[in-house]
Amino acid sequence: MGIISPAERLLSRADPSEPVETGLLTIDLAALAANWRKLASLSGGAECGAVVKADGYGLGQGAAMRALSAAGCKTFFVANLLEAETARALAPDAAIYVLDGLVPGCAPRLAAARLRPCIGSFAELEEWAAAGVTVGRRLEAAIHFDTGMNRLGFAPRDAAEAAARAREIAPTLVMSHFVSSQLPDDPLNVRQIADFSAARAHFPGVPGSMANSSGVFLPQRPHFDLVRPGYALYGGNPTPHAENPMQAAARLGARIVAVRDLPAGATVGYDGIWKAPRPSRIATIGAGYADGLPISATAAPGKPAGEAVVGGVRCPFVGRVSMDYIMLDVTDAPEGAAERGEWVELLGETIGVEELAARAKTIGYEVLTRLGRRYARRYLGA
Ligand SMILES: *Cc1c(COP(=O)(O)O)cnc(C)c1O
Repeated sequence: MGIISPAERLLSRADPSEPVETGLLTIDLAALAANWRKLASLSGGAECGAVVKADGYGLGQGAAMRALSAAGCKTFFVANLLEAETARALAPDAAIYVLDGLVPGCAPRLAAARLRPCIGSFAELEEWAAAGVTVGRRLEAAIHFDTGMNRLGFAPRDAAEAAARAREIAPTLVMSHFVSSQLPDDPLNVRQIADFSAARAHFPGVPGSMANSSGVFLPQRPHFDLVRPGYALYGGNPTPHAENPMQAAARLGARIVAVRDLPAGATVGYDGIWKAPRPSRIATIGAGYADGLPISATAAPGKPAGEAVVGGVRCPFVGRVSMDYIMLDVTDAPEGAAERGEWVELLGETIGVEELAARAKTIGYEVLTRLGRRYARRYLGA
């Protein structure tokens, strides 16, 4: 009869391509691959690896590794055994390094998947050599020197002894890690490069690696044989003192689930820490700290913090960031943009990873690696 009920009319407006989730993370794999190629071209003749730990810095280890492998990446770094086993399944022929090194008891599984621990102590070296005896071949590994982090790795003064004992394994890489590569003027960079070069001299013919993302951009060009960027691949700025040379790889939108008008003096959110200074329109979006948006992005009057872009206009967070929701002051948003069901931008063209991090008093690395599991994820350029 052609009669559409009011309910059907409402439902027919729903866009089937729109996710049911109230957060949408869009990951640009073409940008990721372009970033890898750019870092490779900036590293002279050095091979460009990729650090894909922490689920590819929150963007998805599988998608990231597939895109990077297609771009030509052959060496991956992850933090731990489980990430490494995932990496092996994704890249059967790649070299896969495990930054944790050799956790006691993990040698059989590391060896079975042809994974290379980044060995930083004599105890690890001994255990890896013993595992090699068991399987009947000298096992491959990186030798990690600690030139200043005081975190992981052999002391450079132990280089000669480490090299001697490493004859029982098959070292495929000698590596160290920068303390302050984001600060190109820090004299520590030069000292670390010198200490690493001296330690490396005990391993003739073994490739060397020092540079993380920011290390690639250091004036000393400490690229050695292999660079191992992470953050910059995912669009983070490896040169925080200058404009970001990388392409953004992640966008984050959230959906407005409710809108209300408040009189001046009304408060918003837990503990009423924000009080409307004027009659205000408030939009509630369906994303909160459980989705990786830091509670430290909470705003109060006179203490602005997080912002979202609503119809092209920046609108401030108001009240405490809660588990599932953030409230926005959309009083100045354009007509129609701040309606139930509309999407706002939390991360994108206007607000980059670094800005969101600064507004939340954290760093971009933490913003990326905490991106929530409740978001719908769309991969572009796959
Ligand atoms: C995480 C990590 C990297 C990558 O660092 P970015 O700053 O993300 O490029 C490289 N090397 C080691 C040892 C790391 O732990």
